[in-house]
Amino acid sequence: MLLTISTTYQPATDLGYLLHKHPDRCHSFSLSFGQAHVFYPEANTQRCTAALLLEVDPVKLVRGRGIKIEQYVSDRPYVASSFLSVAIAQVFSTALSGRCQDRPELAQTPIPLVARVSVIPCRGGEEFLRQLFEPLGYSVRAQGHLLDENFPDWGHSQYYTVELHHTLRLSDLLSHLYVLIPVLDDDKHYWVGDEEVEKLLRRGEGWLNKHPAREQITKRYLKRQSRLTRVALAQLTEEDNLDPDRAQEKHAQEEAAVEKPLSLNQHRLNAVVVALKHRAAKRVIDLGCGQGNLLKILLKDSFFEQITGVDVSYHSLEIAKERLDRLRLPRNQWDRLQLIQGALTYQDKRFNGYDAATVIEVIEHLDLPRLEAFERVLFEFARPKNAIVTTPNIEYNVKFENLPAGKLRHKDHRFEWTRQEFQTWAIRVAQRFGYSVEFQSIGEEDPEVGYPTQMGMFYQLAI
Ligand code: SAH
Repeated sequence: MLLTISTTYQPATDLGYLLHKHPDRCHSFSLSFGQAHVFYPEANTQRCTAALLLEVDPVKLVRGRGIKIEQYVSDRPYVASSFLSVAIAQVFSTALSGRCQDRPELAQTPIPLVARVSVIPCRGGEEFLRQLFEPLGYSVRAQGHLLDENFPDWGHSQYYTVELHHTLRLSDLLSHLYVLIPVLDDDKHYWVGDEEVEKLLRRGEGWLNKHPAREQITKRYLKRQSRLTRVALAQLTEEDNLDPDRAQEKHAQEEAAVEKPLSLNQHRLNAVVVALKHRAAKRVIDLGCGQGNLLKILLKDSFFEQITGVDVSYHSLEIAKERLDRLRLPRNQWDRLQLIQGALTYQDKRFNGYDAATVIEVIEHLDLPRLEAFERVLFEFARPKNAIVTTPNIEYNVKFENLPAGKLRHKDHRFEWTRQEFQTWAIRVAQRFGYSVEFQSIGEEDPEVGYPTQMGMFYQLAI
């Protein structure tokens, strides 16, 4: 099964940066159902083509499931199907999410792209293939294949070689393929459960709700399970129906967009890591870890010996796990990590015994009347040696060009504090529970309104 992606954007070899795969090498990955290889049949400044070759192992597919002969004799190893989607998500995960460290602007820029899938089953024929891709702006070239070239009278098969041409962001192309290839194939290989709805909505964000064939796409993607289809369609058509977890995720993205010009998130995480090391904190619990931004850095750094992430949102923890899985760390490195679902406003023994607790951009998500409960959970019961708390400085909001006046940075923020308000709170808490506290500013400082993020570093005093 072969997918190639070509560009004539110049320099075309920048495709290697976007895909995070160097054009000079062949990259191989083991997947649960076989092997994936990425290589570049051509790579020069005018034109670059990346190939994803997937070898599906038919024996692995049926192992342990009671074997029938038709499971061995099937088209699965040779045609594009949901296996290709899984491979795209694993092998090109960064490109799929639209991130690119070396060429961040390019990842957000539409470039001329051609995707070619060597063989794809189009249940519904060429017409359905066009109904799926043409509304998204692709020009579609499809070549049908005969059932058997030796017997042309037998007519056409359902198999096509397909070329899709469009000028768009690479992440959009990959998202379209991720969702629409299994839809064309209509033969999903794994159990369809609630997380499939999540995946469909995540990858379909920004285009599926406007697609004229969205009902058919949703039905087929979810293997015609009517309950799941209803859930997905309801969420696609009405944003207000988003469950709280998804709303949280969406709002976090909006917050990141407001703060992005400063790459504030990076400054913040760096400052936290520096403070942790300064305090020699090797066992760290990240309270309200969200999708694992800090955990990822800690996990990659062998200085940190025990790392625990806590969040109330199961969905965020799942995303964190998925993102950390992609680090592909050796097993012994994994043993340092633990993810637990928990609320920061309830006393919890699992929070005890750490060198440091980090609470990064979390307190402003708590209802003010619940803040005191959190103070006691952290400083009276868990009692880490150190605690690092960051929160926005509301005075700085006037400096964000894309944030309307008077608005907070995130829809779920219950409050944002001035420098004075944060420091008053932190000093009171430190005095009450026997800690000292120091403050640090994060981000570029403005003479009038200060810095974008404020950080308090608490240190437990000897009794
Ligand atoms: N620290 C992360 C996430 C910040 S967003 C980062 O910097 O990227 C705030 C996080 O706090 C969300 O993931 C939210 O689910 C979590 N949260 C909010 N209230 C919580 C509570 N009462 N208990 C545990 N987690 C909570």
